[in-house]
Amino acid sequence: MSDQTNNSDALSIARAVRSDETSSVAIVDQHLAAIDASEAEIHAFNLVLADEARAAAAVIDQRVAAGEDVGPLAGVPIALKDNMCTKGVPTTCSSKMLEGWKPPYNATVVEKLAAAGAILIGKTNMDEFAMGSSTENSAFGVTKNPLDTTKVPGGSSGGSAAAVAAGFAPLALGSDTGGSIRQPAALCGVVGMKPTYGAVSRYGLIAFASSLDQIGPFSNTVADSAALFEVIGGHDPRDSTSIPEPAASVSAGLATGVAGLRVGIITELMGTGDLDGFEPEVLAQTRAAAEALAAAGATVAEVSVPSVIYGLSAYYQIAPAEASSNLARYDGVRYGVRQEGSGNTASMMMATRTAGFGDEVKRRIMLGTYALSAGYYDAFYGKAQRVRTLMINDLAKAYADFDVLLTPTSPCVAFDIGATSDPLTMYLNDVCTIPSNLAGHPSISVPYGTGQGGLPVGVQVLAPLQGEAIMFQVAAELERSANAIKTTSKNGAEA
Ligand code: GLN
Repeated sequence: MSDQTNNSDALSIARAVRSDETSSVAIVDQHLAAIDASEAEIHAFNLVLADEARAAAAVIDQRVAAGEDVGPLAGVPIALKDNMCTKGVPTTCSSKMLEGWKPPYNATVVEKLAAAGAILIGKTNMDEFAMGSSTENSAFGVTKNPLDTTKVPGGSSGGSAAAVAAGFAPLALGSDTGGSIRQPAALCGVVGMKPTYGAVSRYGLIAFASSLDQIGPFSNTVADSAALFEVIGGHDPRDSTSIPEPAASVSAGLATGVAGLRVGIITELMGTGDLDGFEPEVLAQTRAAAEALAAAGATVAEVSVPSVIYGLSAYYQIAPAEASSNLARYDGVRYGVRQEGSGNTASMMMATRTAGFGDEVKRRIMLGTYALSAGYYDAFYGKAQRVRTLMINDLAKAYADFDVLLTPTSPCVAFDIGATSDPLTMYLNDVCTIPSNLAGHPSISVPYGTGQGGLPVGVQVLAPLQGEAIMFQVAAELERSANAIKTTSKNGAEA
């Protein structure tokens, strides 16, 4: 393999394995060696599947030797967020509630990965039940940002983002309910993508907020993100919200460029008006990204999407409401590590839920239960749903004039571990990512330069429902531009 791939590029690894230039066992061993070297410090994983990964890689190598087509991700190690079910392999959601639980079945994405030749290398740490933006809410300890271990990796899929950034795996899957793929991708300097609601099966994804949750890819390159999306996408009769269509084909357009495309920068998410807390460097990089698209032939203008400023308020009613219902199953009877209490069923359930859930999960259950309660349903949950409709309508208006929209992914770069003790401040991290979840639209975070402390900035490309192809097309142009700037400054530094 060329130096340039440096084992970080899944498609190059798959090509080399398929053509027998390298073995999957060798690739897996290299990644396990990287894990051995720094996982003790980073803590990206709840569980590393070293023996299982070696065994699966050996099977891939035998099949290549036998002349079989082993699939588009042949021999590529992948890390899986620990809220996706793996048959017989512990799946915890980073919660004491599920400690030791072994699902009796595989998530659809797990089966699709195996069919594509990918090798599961471990289950990654996360905020408990995917509630958080820093991975500090895990019951099993915080994950550190591989680029600066005093900083958080973002969340809730922080372990998956850190695994890719640390070189533990070239690919990972996360789940995104309000930004949990895109925000950690931005903070760790990797690519993270949330598909259209229903584009990827959620069968076997442990539910947080069912009208918002989606599974999506982490990778080092936009091409890998597109390839992984193609592998995991497509209809699944076992998920009633799955779109009844085959996986979209998105890789073909990556080299097309952006000439003639119309790109709208969402005014309200550029640090003007009612929303503050945006770091100037993050805004500057977002503007630079927009200028790069203009230089590549796109038409770029600002567009107002007025209701996005209410996205946070609506999300933090809807997501907890759905969570309070989804998490009712952890009662020590159907699911959950049972605590006996004082002898009757109610006290057993109370003891189980008191001991099993962490503070943030309890906070969300209380918020959600309140929002759904008879006297307040319309004032809170009903109102939030109306805001959601307003936002969908506003976005539709913007897409009448623009093919894609552009925003920062996160208002700030990676922050210090332990610095954000106030939940409301933590929630502000999601201001740019939530609109795509509320609308069910796809979006992607692409690393674009650096901000404070030399930490990476992510720029977000949003597209309308099932607009993944055009979204990836724009993301690929941003990646080319970011790489060109990196090469120029490196050459400049050497000169
Ligand atoms: N940070 C958001 C929350 O805490 C989003 C989480 C997610 O996307 N899973 O709810």
